[in-house]
Amino acid sequence: MTQTVATPTTHSAFEDVNVHVWRAAKHLELPTDMVEALTHCEREVVVSLPLRRDDGAILMLRGYRVQHSSARGPRKGGIRFHPAVDLDEVRALASLMTWKTALIDVPFGGAKGGVSVDPADLSGREKEELMRRWTRTMVHVLGPHRDIPAPDMGTDAQTMAWLMDEFHRLEGFQPACVTGKPVGLFGAPGREEATGRGVLRVTVAALRRAGKPVQGATVAIQGFGNVGRFAALAAIEAGMKVVAISDVTGTRVIDRGYTADEINAAPTVRSLAVGDDSTDPILEMPVDVLIPAALGGVIVEENAPRVKAPLIIEAANQPVSTVAADALLRRGVTVVPDILANAGGVLGSYFEWTQNIQEFRWPIERFRIELDQRMEQAFTDVASTADERKISLREASFVVAFARVAESFRLRGRVL
Ligand code: NAD
Repeated sequence: MTQTVATPTTHSAFEDVNVHVWRAAKHLELPTDMVEALTHCEREVVVSLPLRRDDGAILMLRGYRVQHSSARGPRKGGIRFHPAVDLDEVRALASLMTWKTALIDVPFGGAKGGVSVDPADLSGREKEELMRRWTRTMVHVLGPHRDIPAPDMGTDAQTMAWLMDEFHRLEGFQPACVTGKPVGLFGAPGREEATGRGVLRVTVAALRRAGKPVQGATVAIQGFGNVGRFAALAAIEAGMKVVAISDVTGTRVIDRGYTADEINAAPTVRSLAVGDDSTDPILEMPVDVLIPAALGGVIVEENAPRVKAPLIIEAANQPVSTVAADALLRRGVTVVPDILANAGGVLGSYFEWTQNIQEFRWPIERFRIELDQRMEQAFTDVASTADERKISLREASFVVAFARVAESFRLRGRVL
């Protein structure tokens, strides 16, 4: 018999995600036992990774792979090298991948991995050895039809090339075992820009839904890495004005907006040739669109009242806490949630995986057309659910995603 679902209070990153899962379950009137299953992870692998440093010393590191769900297909998710990586964070990110892959309707489940380490503290050889050791230790749970890693913070296309090579030595040639590889090693042209491009497709869709002009809309972006940079370039291409950008080196503002050439020429914000340095918090700038594209947990209860942008696009994972999101919603601020906003990355990974399996390379134009269409379709699915049920875009994203995961779960017979 279906029991009523109550929404628990939250503390950790994983519990934060699960609050949204429980809320979606309530809207869908799903049985509690199914929600219980999907608020836990299928498999959690925690390992000690001894790394021989260049000076001969041994550094003991902790590595993770968490597989949240395989209900809709092989698990999919990035590998993060960052000092803040812990089991709770990896669980949260693995769960988000399940909902994200369902939301964009690709045949994947959710996973995430990482190592608690500062990648800036590692030499190139040490980083390669760490990635290879992680792969050797995790190989029994990985594979093109089991679990497919990808880059995340602190890892990149080169790191994924080492992963593919190590996997190849152990299991034979299977380029679909990992995505986000270099284009010269079975990567897909278009994958590198895919997350930022997808961020902009949903930004444009959200502005249109709000009846606001895209041309000339002002944008502030926190983060000038893979996501922030390509989101900035796509915003400029769409006719928007990128008036503020920040990264670890500082914040720069420019009223006329940056040009693509200025963005392309600068490896960091500090090295942008034009614009003024600013000490104002980028998250509180008076712009039409705010794109946090760096870290999680940057908009919280304390600073949420000072956020002035009427539209926030969660390009990073979990940049807005649950409490802050509820406060912003009450103030009429629209937040496009991470599982929708940054889904272009895993969508691009899906295209790469598909090409690897078919041993057939798409031209970049096909990649971009498919990406744009699927991101727009995902936004339409979410926006129409939000309108029908009179709920936020975040709640609607989880409702759409959970309905799809629940259907697979039920059809597989995993719940009595
Ligand atoms: P990245 O490492 O390439 O870039 C991160 C950027 O954030 C850098 O420019 C860094 O200087 C900046 N940054 C770090 N701390 C900052 C701070 N305190 N203030 C301002 N800027 C700061 O990472 P990325 O791949 O661009 O990922 C960014 C976020 O997007 C992460 O949350 C990641 O999980 C998420 N994400 C990435 C992808 C992807 O395909 N790369 C896909 C989905 C989600």
